[in-house]
Amino acid sequence: MTQLIETCNATICRTYARLPVLFVRGEGCRLWDDTGKEYLDFLAGIAVCNLGHSHPLVARAVCEQATTLVHVSNLFYTRPQIELARELTRRSFADKVFFANSGAEANEAAIKLARKYSRDHFGPGRFHIIAMTNSFHGRTLATLSATGQAKVHKGFEPLVEGFSFVPFDSVEAVRQAVTEQTCAVLVEPIQGEGGVRFPSRGYLRELKEFCRAHNLLLIFDEVQVGMGRTGTLFAHEQEEVNPDILTLAKALANGLPIGAMLTHDAVAEAFSAGTHATTFGGTPLVTRAALTTLEIIAEPDFLERVRSVGTYFLQRLTQLKEAHACVREVRGRGLLLAVELDRPAQPVVEYCLEQGFVINCVQDSVIRLAPPLIVEEDQIDRLLPVLDRALSELEAVAA
Ligand SMILES: *Cc1c(COP(=O)(O)O)cnc(C)c1O
Repeated sequence: MTQLIETCNATICRTYARLPVLFVRGEGCRLWDDTGKEYLDFLAGIAVCNLGHSHPLVARAVCEQATTLVHVSNLFYTRPQIELARELTRRSFADKVFFANSGAEANEAAIKLARKYSRDHFGPGRFHIIAMTNSFHGRTLATLSATGQAKVHKGFEPLVEGFSFVPFDSVEAVRQAVTEQTCAVLVEPIQGEGGVRFPSRGYLRELKEFCRAHNLLLIFDEVQVGMGRTGTLFAHEQEEVNPDILTLAKALANGLPIGAMLTHDAVAEAFSAGTHATTFGGTPLVTRAALTTLEIIAEPDFLERVRSVGTYFLQRLTQLKEAHACVREVRGRGLLLAVELDRPAQPVVEYCLEQGFVINCVQDSVIRLAPPLIVEEDQIDRLLPVLDRALSELEAVAA
C-alpha cells in the first residue's frame, strides 16, 4: 500500500488529494479495500454508481457488449447508441442527443450549441452566457470559464471569453446581467459541488419564462443531479419546467464514462454535420451500459423508493441536527443530501472512513451524502451513529 502510494505520487499528476485507501472491489453499497476491510459507500463515486457497484445487469450488459463490439467510430451506425438516444428522448423533453464522454464535454457541447444557434438566428456578437456563482460545470477551458468559482479559474487565465456570473436563485440578478450579447443562461437545478444548494420553488420556472421572453436558451446542467438522484429521472421534472438544453453524465452509465447533451429539434439544427464531434462519444460499450442503467432507474417503483428512502434519510439527519450545535442545516431531495456545519467537515469525512463509511465534503463545511440509489434504511441506520460520534468528536476538539 505504502509502495503503491509512492508509485502513484511518482507517476500520476498530483491533481487529486486522495484519502489513503486502496479499493479493490465493490458490490451494491459495499466496498472492500486491499486489506479486506469493508466499507459502506455513501458517495457512489461522486453520484456516479447510482445502481451500486458491480450491478449484475449492467455487468452482464458490459461483458456481452465487450465480447461483441466495443468501438467503430461515429462514421457508422451502432445499435446501442441509437437505442439509448431513443430512450433518452422518449423519457425527456428532448428530440435530439449528442453523446460525449464526460460532464465537461456534455457542457462543452451545450456551450458550443448555444453560441452556434444564436449566431445562426441573431448574427455574430451574441455569445455571452450567464452562469451562477458557486456553480460547477467541469475542468475543460470553456467549462472552467463557465464555472463560478475563483479557485477553479486560478492559474489558467486568460479564460474563455463570454461568461458572467450572478447569484444562484435570483431571476432578478439574471435580468440585470442580460445584455444584447447574451445568448443563454446556464444553471444547475440544484448546485452539487457548490454545496448541495436548492433554489426556491418557482425559481427555475420563472427563469424559463424570462429566457423565453428574451430569446435566451436555458441550459440545465444535470450532470450530478440527473438519473434518479433526486427521486425523479431528471431533477427539473419536480419543478415542472423544461430547459432548452440538458446535460447529463455522471450516473448515466453507472460508472462507465459517458456524457450526453439533449435538446429539441429547433436548437439541434444548429449542429449540422461536421460542426461538432468526438471519437469516443456514444460507443456501443458505454451506451449499452447506459441503456441498461436507464431502464432500471426510470422504473416508477425504483424512483418512488428513492423518494421514500430519501425522506427517511432526511428525517434521520434532522435528528442529528437537533443533537449537535455545530450543524447549521440539513437538506436534501431524494438521495442527494447535505449536512452543513459551522466549521470544516474534513475531520468528519476521515473519522467515517476509519469506521468504514465513505462520505465526502464540498465547499469545506458541507458533508455531501449521495449513496447508491439502492441504499437500504438499515444501512442508513448504521451510518447515523457514526456521524453522531464524528460530530461529537469535532465539537470536543473545538471546545
Ligand atoms: C461533475 C460535474 C461536472 C463535470 O463532469 P466531469 O465528468 O468531471 O467532466 C459538470 N457539472 C456538474 C454539475 C458536475 O457535478
